[in-house]
Amino acid sequence: MNRPFDGPQAALNVPTFVQHRRLVDWVAEFVALAKPDSVVWCDGSQEENDRLCAQMVQAGTLRKLNEQKRPNSYLALSDPGDVARVEDRTFICTDKAEDAGPTNNWAAPAEMRKTLNGLFDGCMRGRTLYVVPFSMGPLGSSIAHIGVELTDSPYVVVSMRIMTRMGKKVYDVLGTDGEFVPCVHTVGKPLAAGEADVAWPCNPTKYIVHYPATREIWSYGSGYGGNALLGKKCFALRIASTMGRDEGWLAEHMLILGVTTPEGRKHHVAAAFPSACGKTNFAMLIPPQGLNGWKVTTIGDDIAWIKPGADGRLHAINPEAGYFGVAPGTGEKTNPNAMATLHANCIFTNVALTDDGDVWWEGMTEQVPAHLIDWQGQDWTPEIAKETGRKAAHPNARFTAPASQCPSIDSEWENPEGVVIDAFIFGGRRSTTVPLVTEARNWEEGVYMAATMGSETTAAAAGQQGVVRRDPFAMLPFCGYNMSDYFQHWLALGEKLAQKGATLPRFYCVNWFRKGPDGKFVWPGFGENMRVLKWMLGRIEGKAQGQEHVFGVSPRYEDLDWQGLDFSREKFDLVSSVEKQAWQKELELHADLFEQLKQGLPAALPRTKKAIEERLSA
Ligand code: PGA
Ligand code: MN
Repeated sequence: MNRPFDGPQAALNVPTFVQHRRLVDWVAEFVALAKPDSVVWCDGSQEENDRLCAQMVQAGTLRKLNEQKRPNSYLALSDPGDVARVEDRTFICTDKAEDAGPTNNWAAPAEMRKTLNGLFDGCMRGRTLYVVPFSMGPLGSSIAHIGVELTDSPYVVVSMRIMTRMGKKVYDVLGTDGEFVPCVHTVGKPLAAGEADVAWPCNPTKYIVHYPATREIWSYGSGYGGNALLGKKCFALRIASTMGRDEGWLAEHMLILGVTTPEGRKHHVAAAFPSACGKTNFAMLIPPQGLNGWKVTTIGDDIAWIKPGADGRLHAINPEAGYFGVAPGTGEKTNPNAMATLHANCIFTNVALTDDGDVWWEGMTEQVPAHLIDWQGQDWTPEIAKETGRKAAHPNARFTAPASQCPSIDSEWENPEGVVIDAFIFGGRRSTTVPLVTEARNWEEGVYMAATMGSETTAAAAGQQGVVRRDPFAMLPFCGYNMSDYFQHWLALGEKLAQKGATLPRFYCVNWFRKGPDGKFVWPGFGENMRVLKWMLGRIEGKAQGQEHVFGVSPRYEDLDWQGLDFSREKFDLVSSVEKQAWQKELELHADLFEQLKQGLPAALPRTKKAIEERLSA
């Protein structure tokens, strides 16, 4: 095919591998607004990646790590004001406020466009605009979707190359008129002629904006992960959840894993936990002593796109190609698979630098290094930490790593058909009230469990930490439309699947985080979570026993496999008790949530609540 772009677009230097006129027109229009000095069409090659990294090392954005210890890996230290997702600056712009719902920040599209057109006018002066084509999901999969991000951040480009299928081959799938989600991003710091750049440009003013009707994303002022790598939370959750609502599928904040029994039967599980609650650890779980022969394999660690197949079952893919994981707390003891994944080809953000040019963070090793450069670029020693309380790594420091490097990667992880889901797990971080594991008796009870989930807040989002907030389906910051409609979408999907007569996935609610009277976690977690997983699969296979209580079925002490672990009945009671008073309080919080979401709230939810209340007071 000939190069179709002449005239004024010639200045864009459109490469021959781009044959999509609408895309080029859109880039031209955006270039006229943002006024970058130059335009680079990314091809995703190693050579391009190396060039950008070298450029960022020059600029001070990246530091190359010791090639012997951590080959082809880099450290970035962000602006201290740009370290997490900014939920209060994240907007869903639908025509009607009620379509965004009470859990989202809403703004009228026309007004937001006016504001952003003002902010974006000339925002890339002195900078290069990169055109970044990417596929969320295996290229060409019927479950996958394509996006194109225009950004002035080379850090975003090299991160997107790890996190998504990025580059030239995306244009082959797009062809001359394929669908794509247009994403624009700027750090919001234009450079005057001759002005030197800073290592981590960003802007105190931030806007993370979604237009679900036109499936557009506009991000201003931040270079941080979830605010800037627009394929992840913005596209794969907020925009995709609205696509799923319209088209009959699900975009969920879930890891996906495979479990193989010692006899070789394989099941797949999708699990939703809020940010920084252990999704990556659970996805890479290594079965403990005593449960030999069980095997867990990793399909995804953060996001699942789930579509009903012709077989009436739910098929899930991981739309991502990398892990953007929380570094602190990740170590040989807690997650050896993640540690092995990080051996090379990674970008680390806001962790500490060791004297021999490697990285370190709290929880990485038992032995704390005697000296480090901390995430703010300052000297750090264990003594300084003791005196000042300063952490070496920011609590939300991250690694960006290729999924293909994970030793536990599932052989089906790139299967374009996805894997069939047998169970959904929902879990929050709750020091009280919520028992270790509960099985819902049916789809409706499962949706109730997921909808009313609460969790203590973490450093993954800016704001107060450790307070319990309702986080329905772990989607509170990520649902791109009205949460009540989202509940209805789940309920309707369950009904539709039931009509087809296929086996429905079961729902489980878990809590690894109950604390004892001494304020310490009682459940050992990590690999030991396999015991809970084994019980769930036993239930699915019709083998494991349990006891019914007011809101579901939980294992008794003797229903779990304790081989290889010394965990007393008393401790088990501490993590699994269902206390009447605590649950009366909990149900009041459910009532608050339902009050907040009353517009359009499906009747099934208050109905389920009433049934629980009746059983509780019986
Ligand atoms: P998370 O996602 O907060 O759910 O871990 C990271 C991010 O996108 O910022
Ligand atoms: Mn997440």
